Amino acid sequence: MSVHDEVLAAAKDMLRLGLTAGTSGNVSGRLEDGHVVITPSSVPYEDMVLADLVVLDADGKVVEGTRAPSSEKLVHLAAYQRYPEVGSVIHAHPVYASMFAVAREPIPCVIDEFAVYVGGDVPCAEYAMTGTPELGEQAADCLADRGSALLANHGTVTVSGSVEGALHQLGVVERAAQIIWGARALGKVAELPEETNATLSGYYRMLRQRQG
Ligand SMILES: [Zn+2]
Repeated sequence: MSVHDEVLAAAKDMLRLGLTAGTSGNVSGRLEDGHVVITPSSVPYEDMVLADLVVLDADGKVVEGTRAPSSEKLVHLAAYQRYPEVGSVIHAHPVYASMFAVAREPIPCVIDEFAVYVGGDVPCAEYAMTGTPELGEQAADCLADRGSALLANHGTVTVSGSVEGALHQLGVVERAAQIIWGARALGKVAELPEETNATLSGYYRMLRQRQG
């Protein structure tokens, strides 16, 4: 499967899994030559085909494709530029994680699996308006040792070594946000022991470097 195929498949899966709605969100992958293949702006995921994908250079210039690239391309490019081990970026608007983004509150790392895939609490980036270079920089600031970050009053951004990994991780984050929301309704969220967090976030850092 080429990176183009993986990006298209993940975009369709993201909609199917309810991790985004309408044409919101976007998926990208880094190509071997350093260019980035990304989903286009305003094309419904159900109708999207390989020819709709757009290839960008590191400055965001379109080098392949006829569509307009996603309006959040700068969020993707900032993560690739900052972290050479990152091979895929997904920006989405999943409901439960976005609730934390609106509250501007981190999603706490209170589930074992979450620590392994995400590396710790999902931090909330400083607010910056959609489509601006500041939004990309604020998000990238949060992703040094975490697989995901919240974009204040907006949604999520997830980075991984592979497209498949990024989609899986997005699902882990959304599910955790839903579980924590429910646990809070029950009245209590117990923290993981410090030792568990330290050990599992260490696995995350190891995995992230190995994927690069
Ligand atoms: Zn968005």
